Amino acid sequence: MAAIAYVNGRYRPLREASVNVEDRGFQFGDGIYEVLYVHNHRLADAELHLARMARSLGEISLHLTLSPAALLVIIREVLRRNRVSTGLVYMQITRGAARRDHPFPAVPVRPGIVITARTRPAPPTDIAAWAGAAITLPDERWARRDIKSTNLLPNVLARQKARLAGAYEAILYDAQGYVTEGAASNVWIVDAAGTLRTRPLGQEILPGCTRAAVLQMLHGTGIAFTQTPFTLEALRGAREIFLTSATSFVKPITRLDGVSIGNGHPGPAATELLARYLQHIEAP
Ligand code: PLP
Repeated sequence: MAAIAYVNGRYRPLREASVNVEDRGFQFGDGIYEVLYVHNHRLADAELHLARMARSLGEISLHLTLSPAALLVIIREVLRRNRVSTGLVYMQITRGAARRDHPFPAVPVRPGIVITARTRPAPPTDIAAWAGAAITLPDERWARRDIKSTNLLPNVLARQKARLAGAYEAILYDAQGYVTEGAASNVWIVDAAGTLRTRPLGQEILPGCTRAAVLQMLHGTGIAFTQTPFTLEALRGAREIFLTSATSFVKPITRLDGVSIGNGHPGPAATELLARYLQHIEAP
């Protein structure tokens, strides 16, 4: 069965689907995107993703006439046409196609919308096999990382370095030596004193939807928790490190820059939160 993409109002075989060469997403990265996980036909954290998408659009002054409800209908149709019950949905929205010029088109053009989906294996059941490695790199991205922009070149280069190092993720740190986030995930640690920490929201990190869902889940776990920045040194000395994202769920990092973290195995906080998150996407 050929994969199908939604492109600007039409469902097209992926092989024939294309965007205009003057699309501002292609020319300037002038657009935003979202990635959603779908599990057994259920979209995980759909409201959070649609709210973040609306916020990203607002932050770049891109007006979309399609309502979130209409987008959901298209997403469901893309999933149906691709026979995806468990997998990922990618949604890109750009400022549309116009004669190349940096400022916004004087006469607004129709935004470009591309939605694709692909099957992915069911979530992990064996946390030890799910654990991975990370490397650390300076954060070289722009100052508005809270916008889910399609400008991903620094993220792409960081993830490529991670891949070449045999690692899953690149964990990024700012000029003051504080961890910001992963190239495509939010970062959490259980520090040497046993407190779970993740960086507070701000322009330095993407407000992860999985991060938000996991924060909700902390209530009732008895896990001591704070949203405070932490240094690279604290990261290296952490009892546990784990990542959150729509594609990583809760992913323990047991090796950092080639060195074991904690006892080298997934820790109790990551184990508990992965189990809770998987339950949450099973029955939100
Ligand atoms: N931070 C960055 C830079 C990301 O690209 C992502 C997801 O792709 C995340 C964090 C996690 O966000 P979410 O949990 O909404 O997938």
